[in-house]
Amino acid sequence: RSLGIALVGLGSYSTYQLAPALQNTKHCHLAGIVTGSRAKEQVWASKYNIETKNIYNYQNFDTIANNEDIDIVYVVLPNSMHAEFSIRAAKAGKHVICEKPMGISVAECDAIIEACKIAGVKLGMGYRLHSEPYTQEIKRYVKEKTFGEVSYIMAEAAYRSNGNPAQWRLNKALSGGGALVNMGVYSIQSSIYGTGENPVSVTAQEFSTRPDYFKETDETITAQFEFPGGATGSIFTSHNANANSLYASCNKGWFSLKPANNYGPLAGETSRGPIQFPHESQQKLQMDDFASHILYGTENRAPGEMGKRDMIIVEAIYQSIAEGNRKIALDLGKMGLVSE
Ligand code: NAD
Repeated sequence: RSLGIALVGLGSYSTYQLAPALQNTKHCHLAGIVTGSRAKEQVWASKYNIETKNIYNYQNFDTIANNEDIDIVYVVLPNSMHAEFSIRAAKAGKHVICEKPMGISVAECDAIIEACKIAGVKLGMGYRLHSEPYTQEIKRYVKEKTFGEVSYIMAEAAYRSNGNPAQWRLNKALSGGGALVNMGVYSIQSSIYGTGENPVSVTAQEFSTRPDYFKETDETITAQFEFPGGATGSIFTSHNANANSLYASCNKGWFSLKPANNYGPLAGETSRGPIQFPHESQQKLQMDDFASHILYGTENRAPGEMGKRDMIIVEAIYQSIAEGNRKIALDLGKMGLVSE
């Protein structure tokens, strides 16, 4: 059986990554769209053969409850709209995939998780790397201690933004933040699957060199983590530089990915030689994994509590900066750590 997915928000990620990936998925397919644009309705309907009854706008979206063609709603809107549409999807009885960052506050993450729980629907994050083979290999090194204990993890996730200054990513009300919520989430993720642990503290710094362009949102943030096993971590995230890597120094060698979090193919090196896997669409793998979780009870590789955990860390980083780079303690336990 193949589950029907409706994409909500037909911007660049839906257009250039998700919809093409859904042409090759095994356990799910593109069945519907939700858009505020009449022009996009027509273009998508003809390009992807989408039935008129499976096309919604933001106002009539809730009637999707009565549509048996749609099993999963995938929310691909600006960050401040994730909570509203994830909750409306859950109330309509649909399983939910929510893009990163999960929301613009921990409270929003809680509300999404609660709505999905009450509705009895599954919730997954759009964290595509949890289905990506190089990342799985890193997680295996950590689990099997292939290179011994990790003593230091470094993770970068950044790109230089030069685009339209009116874009939603630079508007705090719509984005909830700047580089940290957009790219920093990847370096937080890398630090956690690169050590297999949640951090117990974070200390952060902010840098601003183009305040005319980054009027409301953070441009560059660095932060340091302490992990319960004794490892330390360092992350760099920015909208003002290109950087994309993960490096872990261990007591019996090292492993690294560069790039570590783009759409791939990723590339990896270790102290014992290169990591090599054939390339497949990460989005295809991610959506098939979530569909098989629903259909066959396989592991949810990126559950809602993982998205919430990352937002707790994001809020702690902003708190550290606001309080003069103070070290903030984190009490996450095993929250959001998945076994595979
Ligand atoms: P985008 O700007 O290209 O698309 C956003 C869509 O939302 C557009 O179709 C726009 O019309 C619609 N929209 C509805 N209301 C809007 C409003 N008030 N203001 C602005 N746009 C509005 O953005 P995108 O790059 O497709 O990102 C969408 C989401 O997907 C974001 O949360 C982003 O973090 C996430 N994303 C994730 C990945 C990933 O690799 N997992 C990659 C890119 C984007």
